[in-house]
Amino acid sequence: MSYKQTTVWDVDNFEGKSFSEPGIKEAGLWIKRGEVIAFPTETVYGLGADATNDAAVEKIFEAKGRPGDNPLIVHIDDQKQLTELASSVPHLARQLADCFWPGPLTLIVPKKEAVSEKVTAGLSTVAVRMPDHPIARALIKEAEVPVAAPSANRSGRPSPTKAEHVKHDLNGRIAGIVDGGPSGYGLESTVVDCTGEKAWILRPGGITKEQLEDVLGKNQVGISGWEEENQANITTESPKAPGMKYRHYAPEAPLILLNGNKKVILNRIKQEQNKGNKVAVLAVEEHKRDLEHAADTFVSLGSINNLEYIAAQLYDNLRQADRTEADIILCETFSTKGVGLAIMNRLEKAADAYEK
Ligand code: AMP
Ligand code: MG
Repeated sequence: MSYKQTTVWDVDNFEGKSFSEPGIKEAGLWIKRGEVIAFPTETVYGLGADATNDAAVEKIFEAKGRPGDNPLIVHIDDQKQLTELASSVPHLARQLADCFWPGPLTLIVPKKEAVSEKVTAGLSTVAVRMPDHPIARALIKEAEVPVAAPSANRSGRPSPTKAEHVKHDLNGRIAGIVDGGPSGYGLESTVVDCTGEKAWILRPGGITKEQLEDVLGKNQVGISGWEEENQANITTESPKAPGMKYRHYAPEAPLILLNGNKKVILNRIKQEQNKGNKVAVLAVEEHKRDLEHAADTFVSLGSINNLEYIAAQLYDNLRQADRTEADIILCETFSTKGVGLAIMNRLEKAADAYEK
């Protein structure tokens, strides 16, 4: 499917305006009619279609080049809609929805038969989220249907945190983009499987393991594929999280993660430059003074003391490193405490190699 033109509705600073914003009304109507529309959420930009319309859902997979066995998250604007999608709502799911919705938390629950297999990739469960972004919520309301929406990037690329990222990846491939300025957290939602005895994190994200434990109790939260003695194992393929087996979030130049001090990074820069490679380095602001002069390009990830900021800027920084002449991108690694878990998860999925 290609479009002569991808319509852009500029609804920046929507907060506080009335829900009758014409751009949102029109975009909602287009979703209702079976089109795919990109829109901002508090995590990243999503690519939305009517979750009850198979042909519309198929357009999402086509536009992104997404493998059909990677299921989609269904977005709702009212907790009551959960019962329209779930055959039953486990107690765990109810507790988490009460605490964290609207917000960056996706709940996996048993699906109602009526929920399309196109959305769930044939699974017996469905992923549901209520976003906490005024534009996303208003759009779902206007569309009057649950909205299936993965991130609005070409499959494999870093997720979009600005409308310009969406344009770069999907211009001419989708009907429209609601431009509402940069998204908030910058990393995708935490995906939690609520179908078992305890909550299993299938993908770390905006809501941390620690936050989930505060609500459910310490022994009630597990991380799928996680082994305490091998913290790098967080992206291990798990049959429960079908999407995580694919390479994700990746810039075009090879990305190497370096677990080490500044000296290790400096040595690696020299080694690459000796081979004739131009090197982009992604590192924290505190390492700028020592690394900036050695690298061909230095991109500051932000201060080590503000992991939330680093998360919010990460995809933009990966794309920025990609826009340079760099033949190779080196990136330093983080501890997996708090939001560091989601940051490391995304970096590991994006990387070609992790040198420890
Ligand atoms: P994205 O839409 O790109 O943010 O990715 C959605 C993530 O949710 C992927 O990792 C999917 O594998 C995961 N997901 C969606 N639906 C399900 C489900 N029913 N069971 C398990 N994981 C799911
Ligand atoms: Mg995605």
